[in-house]
Amino acid sequence: MNRLAKQIKGILFDLDGTLWFRGRVIEGANESLEWARGQGLEVKILTNVDTGTGDMIRERLVKGGLNVRPGEIYTPADAALTFVKQNPGKRFHFLVSRRLTTFFQPFSVADPPSDFVVVGNCRDNLSYDRINMAFRHLYEGAQLVALQKGKYLVRADGYHIDTGAFVTALEYASGQTARLLGKPEKGFFLGCLAEMGLAPEEVLIVGDSVTTDIEGAVSIGAAGILVKTGKYRPGDEETLAALPRWFEVIGSVKQLTQVIGHTG
Ligand SMILES: [Mg+2]
Repeated sequence: MNRLAKQIKGILFDLDGTLWFRGRVIEGANESLEWARGQGLEVKILTNVDTGTGDMIRERLVKGGLNVRPGEIYTPADAALTFVKQNPGKRFHFLVSRRLTTFFQPFSVADPPSDFVVVGNCRDNLSYDRINMAFRHLYEGAQLVALQKGKYLVRADGYHIDTGAFVTALEYASGQTARLLGKPEKGFFLGCLAEMGLAPEEVLIVGDSVTTDIEGAVSIGAAGILVKTGKYRPGDEETLAALPRWFEVIGSVKQLTQVIGHTG
């Protein structure tokens, strides 16, 4: 068995393209999750979906057939909650989805001044007045924080403008650069590890993206496994400037058990 595999106490699975793709479970995803749990490994599923906390978006995945347990999904909204708790006494203004607006209500102020403006996917909650209110908070001295900065995303009905475009509008108007909470920010992975109670050298990141998942593993000092599903394109692994301390490329999450080959 791989010497490095013995050190692994937890796995951070990327969601989109690794366990789940275009609204469906990737073959072998449930079996690999179950296998990891059965080995006593801590399991977390990371996603940049920023419309809800992990437990809010879990329902949709379970309905779609992915066997995810409560507390296993970690999103930028979960990172935002940690950020709020790390800044007691500070005032926050949120430009986020309706359900996250309700969720963060206890920490939120409507009118300026505030210390931080947190922006996430607000497609069900956006108006000129709302984005302008966020701008007014920034103009009066608040710092801009982004759940994530994606440019666009694809949903069942087609392409959608993503959070990054609204964050960029606010950056332009305020002259600020947003602090990022989601992937590929190192703090996103580290915040998740803090919830798991594990150190970077004890975890493996499994994902389909060299730029976020594998470079993320390199940046925190974790092991990395690239899967050839989702957004993977042949040769992606050759674009990496540095490799994780332990790195493998596999066809899909289905082959995970073969490369780890844990104590069983
Ligand atoms: Mg992915």
